[in-house]
Amino acid sequence: MEFKVGGVEVVLMKGDITEVEADAIVNAANSYLEHGGGVAGAIVRKGGAIIQEESREWVRRHGPVPVGGVAVTSAGRLRAKYVIHAVGPRCGVEPIEKLGEAVRNALRKAEELGLSSIAFPAISTGIFGCPYDAAALQMAQAIKEAAPQLRSVRRIMVVLYGEEAFQKFIEVFKKTI
Ligand code: ADP
Repeated sequence: MEFKVGGVEVVLMKGDITEVEADAIVNAANSYLEHGGGVAGAIVRKGGAIIQEESREWVRRHGPVPVGGVAVTSAGRLRAKYVIHAVGPRCGVEPIEKLGEAVRNALRKAEELGLSSIAFPAISTGIFGCPYDAAALQMAQAIKEAAPQLRSVRRIMVVLYGEEAFQKFIEVFKKTI
C-alpha cells in the first residue's frame, strides 16, 4: 500500500524489517540500548554483535536515550547503512505522543545523515504494549507533519510484522495521511 505525502513516498508493507532494502532501518529500542527480544533481537541476530557493542558504547558516552529520542549505530551485516535506535513509550507508563516524537527524531537524523530511504517497525506495539491503532495514528501524524520539510529522505517504509498489524496500520494511514 503506497501513499504520497509532501512529495515523499510512504509505503506500508508486511514482512521482516531485517530483510528490507533501505539506507537506515529503525529499531524499537529501550533507553539502555540493550537489544534482547522483539525486533531489536532480530536486528542484532541478523546484523551481528557489532550493533550491540556500538550501542553499549553509545550509552557509555551519552547516557541512556530518553523516551522519544534516537541513537545511531552502524548496521553490521544488514543491507542498511545505519540502524537508528528509537525509544518509544511504554504504554500506560509514558504518554503515547512520545512515539510521534521518536518518529520525528528518526526522520531528522536520517536527514542529517543525508539518507534517501528509511524503514520503521511498529515501535512500541510489542513488549511496550501500545495498541496498533494508537501507535499507527502517532506514526501517521508524525510522518504527515514532517514530510513537507524532508529534502534528502524520499521514501519512508513502515514494515508490519503480521497481518493484524498490517491491516490496522492501513486503516489508520488511509484516514490520516
Ligand atoms: P517495543 O518494545 O517498542 O514494543 P518490540 O520489538 O517488542 O518493540 O515490538 C515492536 C513491533 O515490532 C511489534 O509489533 C512486533 O511484532 C514487531 N516485530 C518483531 N520482530 C520484527 C521484525 N523482524 N520485523 C518487523 N517487525 C517486527
